Amino acid sequence: MSYSFRTTCVTGNPQYKPRDNTGCITVPIYQSATFAHPSLGVSTGFDYSRLENPTREYAEQVVASLDHAKYGFAFSSGMAAVTALFDAFDAGTTVISSDDLYGGSIRLFNTIEKSRNITLTYTDTSNLANVKKSFETAEKNGERVTAVYIETPSNPTMLITDIKKTAELAHEHHALLVVDNTFLTPYFQQPLSLGADIVVQSGTKFLCGHNDTLAGFLTTNNDELAERISFVVKTTGSGLAPFDSYLAVRGIKTLAVRMEAQQKTAQEIISWLSICPGVTKVLYPGIKDNSGYEINKSQATGFGSMMSFYVDTPERAEKILRSVKLIRFAESLGGVESLITYPLTQTHADVPEEDRKRKGITNTLLRLSVGLEDAQDLIADLAQAMNGSE
Ligand SMILES: *Cc1c(COP(=O)(O)O)cnc(C)c1O
Repeated sequence: MSYSFRTTCVTGNPQYKPRDNTGCITVPIYQSATFAHPSLGVSTGFDYSRLENPTREYAEQVVASLDHAKYGFAFSSGMAAVTALFDAFDAGTTVISSDDLYGGSIRLFNTIEKSRNITLTYTDTSNLANVKKSFETAEKNGERVTAVYIETPSNPTMLITDIKKTAELAHEHHALLVVDNTFLTPYFQQPLSLGADIVVQSGTKFLCGHNDTLAGFLTTNNDELAERISFVVKTTGSGLAPFDSYLAVRGIKTLAVRMEAQQKTAQEIISWLSICPGVTKVLYPGIKDNSGYEINKSQATGFGSMMSFYVDTPERAEKILRSVKLIRFAESLGGVESLITYPLTQTHADVPEEDRKRKGITNTLLRLSVGLEDAQDLIADLAQAMNGSE
């Protein structure tokens, strides 16, 4: 049996048989570190919660089925998921990556992964020719490229990378394609169906959706990779805790309705920002003259509720951050509460200055994650903040 996306959000994976036979409607929180064996050499399927836990397994099954994946893994955060994936890659190899990424991923790649002798080659993957060139250079240098790692839309400048074409190119070179799908979620974009090999998501954002828990997910159809990831989880213990797994399952029940409502509100805000004096440019993949509009439209069913915008002066950017009342000045995104972020000093503070400049992460760039509040209230808040009635 298979259900529509929206129904699967509510029911979980229809193929998955719950471990509990009480008839409970929500997944129980199996707050148990260990599980007794019925007899010598017999297991219930659960031995120790670092390896597997029924609440975590339920969460993994939901996300895997939303991504149309054979395997799903839940981690204690998005970064724990990315780390586990890289732990599954051989040391001494090369990964070609988008150069406009979540700041925490860049920090991980440039420090811990570098010390594991994984070479990161950054390029603007929104232009396929750059990825081609990176492969040629790596191969000329005798490097083995394990994977191409992309975010689309990217963070924070909302560049779009063609998933299908990048997957084809990666596969020609015997490399995997990894897509960080945090911004659009499987509700709007299905990277595995477009040819990607692994999907990374920060569940902290839209999946959990309530700014109340950290979580991360990996999904894949690749048997060998799944086995490696499973070994990493078992060995390093970065799996998602039972209570947080429960919150993830609960958050996902409303994913479809939240994604729709938040996108609608985001579009109302964009219409207002586009004609607002003091705003010089809005970055959003749903704006027709944004460079990635056509590609995003061809590979996703929506544009999401994340946007970035430039204002005319750094003073105005600071004024907005000091004056917003309903919208909170905080890192993170994707929750029911709208949040405004200053990438320069927050999410991208650890990105080298020259890279920030090149990518347009300046002191006049703000990023807005639109939540579930009323559009008119959010616009009124931005209007008063723009004019700085502190
Ligand atoms: C937040 C985020 C991450 C990291 O996730 P955490 O849950 O904060 O560890 C990775 N990628 C993107 C695009 C993100 O927004």
